[in-house]
Amino acid sequence: MASLIDTIKAKIDVVDEVGLVVALRKSGKSLQGHCPFHNERTPSFHVFPESQTWRCFGCQEGGDVFTFVEKQQGVDFPEALRYLAEKAGVSLEAYSSPNPERERETNALKERLRKLNEDAVLWFHQMLLRSKEAAEARAYLQSRGVSSESVIAFSLGYAPDHWDALSRYLLGQGYTEQELVDGGLARTREMAKVGSSVRVSGEEQGGGVYDYFRGRIIFPIRDMRGRVIGFGGRALGDGQPKYLNSPQTLLFEKNSVLYALDMARDAIKLAKQVVIVEGYVDAVIAHQYGTKQTVACIGSAITEKHIQQIKKLTKQVTLALDPDAAGVAATEHGIQEALKAFDRTVVPVPVVANNRSAASKGYRRNEPRGMIRLEEVVDAEINVLQLPAGEDPDEVIRRDFVAWTYAVAHPLPLIDYYFVARTAGLNLREPADKTEAAKRLLPVIGSISDRVKRDAYLRKLATMISIEERSLNDELQRMLRGQKSNGVIAKFSDHTGQYRSSGSVTVPGEKSPGGEQPGAGEESAKMNGPEEVGGISQAKDQRRQESRTFGLDKRIKDRIKWEDYLIGLLLQNPGLWSHVCGIINDGDFAGTDTRELYHIFNSVYQRDSSPLFQSIEQFVPSALLETAARARESVGSGSPLDGAGLVKAAVQCATRLKRARLLQSNTELQYLIRGATEAGESATVRQLQQQSLEIHRQLRTIDSAMHLQG
Ligand SMILES: [Zn+2]
Repeated sequence: MASLIDTIKAKIDVVDEVGLVVALRKSGKSLQGHCPFHNERTPSFHVFPESQTWRCFGCQEGGDVFTFVEKQQGVDFPEALRYLAEKAGVSLEAYSSPNPERERETNALKERLRKLNEDAVLWFHQMLLRSKEAAEARAYLQSRGVSSESVIAFSLGYAPDHWDALSRYLLGQGYTEQELVDGGLARTREMAKVGSSVRVSGEEQGGGVYDYFRGRIIFPIRDMRGRVIGFGGRALGDGQPKYLNSPQTLLFEKNSVLYALDMARDAIKLAKQVVIVEGYVDAVIAHQYGTKQTVACIGSAITEKHIQQIKKLTKQVTLALDPDAAGVAATEHGIQEALKAFDRTVVPVPVVANNRSAASKGYRRNEPRGMIRLEEVVDAEINVLQLPAGEDPDEVIRRDFVAWTYAVAHPLPLIDYYFVARTAGLNLREPADKTEAAKRLLPVIGSISDRVKRDAYLRKLATMISIEERSLNDELQRMLRGQKSNGVIAKFSDHTGQYRSSGSVTVPGEKSPGGEQPGAGEESAKMNGPEEVGGISQAKDQRRQESRTFGLDKRIKDRIKWEDYLIGLLLQNPGLWSHVCGIINDGDFAGTDTRELYHIFNSVYQRDSSPLFQSIEQFVPSALLETAARARESVGSGSPLDGAGLVKAAVQCATRLKRARLLQSNTELQYLIRGATEAGESATVRQLQQQSLEIHRQLRTIDSAMHLQG
């Protein structure tokens, strides 16, 4: 049986899927259009029907149909899988669930609860618009400046102050009491008896449930796709609690939901920014005034899960939390959670042997050893919107919209925010407070990986507390030596397990003929690989069969074989991750499943926790367990390699894959250059040639790193 992913890919043409959002025009072997991921005047976005891949030569994004859906819809892999499976008419349960029966039941229940929610939204909404007793609610919304257009756009509603008005209506629509409770819209009366202050009237109805939301303005909460998953209710008058959200249900996961995300999604992509506010009304008002990239975080604090929802849409997160003391604490907390949630890019930095050789020149053939230091950079820009003291976002927006839009467009960079927040309350003329300021800010400065930036902030601190820059720098260096990690710069030895290194790795190379041209020698490398170990021939047969079905050429097939092998090595020896993460990243994988598995490795191993003793499989969605098993099998259990041999094999494999990826990019570029030359588009030709040169440079870097070991 072909794998789930292959089955989906066979049924969905990447050209059709991309064609839904990009106007494509045939251009030689590819189709061309304007990139949906960056602004451009001349089209540099290409879809290659033959390999079923796409690539933008402007912003360098690329991948297959899964990556496209993930990026375009701003969802993660499991969500993209659900979407594409549904579209392809493939049943996910049949493939992925260990218990398809239960999975089907759960899905049916979820579907039912969604319908229940939709019916409740309509009822609440009608109540707000028409009922006499909602007068106070309507007046409240008006006083907060919410327009009637916004009331309709956000389907705002009202839950009247009765015990079971909604429940009676929904029971009349054919829902069961259990469904009302499961959906978080009602509670059973047993619970009411336990609470001493709660008394339930209306026994004559014979119902066993009463309404969860009473006497509140209702904010329906939708998921990214616009489906109602829960509700937020704000009390009128001095009802307690002031805010009441749906309880945890099958659809509503507390502490991870962002309000208005469905309506903000496109604006977030367009503005390349998400603004996170605290309250429902703040979000509604921000949208009403045109700042549509705004969402509200539901629950008491921003969590990593909130950020997970949006990190596919943008890398710029602007926190606009209330400017009171609690808000400052919440902001610091939010920053930490956001830093945790974003992927880190691991950048290999060649270690300069001595002062003669400049790092910017990359590898040189005669450098003594191929030492590479790995530095981790958080792949996000987190900043803070500064509001006047004592004003909530919605007040600022209504009072001075220009000031608000300016603040949104010019948020305070994280480091500058720390300079303000962490020195608040200090008297910087007092020696003791100067020391305190340095103590609080030096770790922040130390976390900046960019040297030039780091120096600039050091200078800023020196000026601020009038202390000589040099002595501050001495202190910083002392601190950096003493403390290896403070969350942003990672210490890699944490994750290396038995292959502990001191934060540096040596890149061993495969022997390759000198002066080799790109495209020539990729098949020629000799190494301990899949051929030498058991279990591969069966997998090979399967691959061959699949590749015939899906038209993969030999090169892709070969790459997938090596990808399986690398993933297999990593599954068996997770410590190897630290040796390959600086060489390849997700985008270098040709297989959808192997790419996603590598992505999971990246996100698991970049966390603070050291998961060495857990099985990585627990993080793998069930749809990919089969791939994980196949990858393990491709390595075989009785691997003859020892520790050093394993590192060497993994590094060689990663290097080989990186090389293959670069060669593929180059081939694609050559097509485009030929096409652009024929069309006489000289500016495009120049731009593409520039990129081709860059690829050649990277290939040379890889090759000379290999030679160093030879
Ligand atoms: Zn692009």
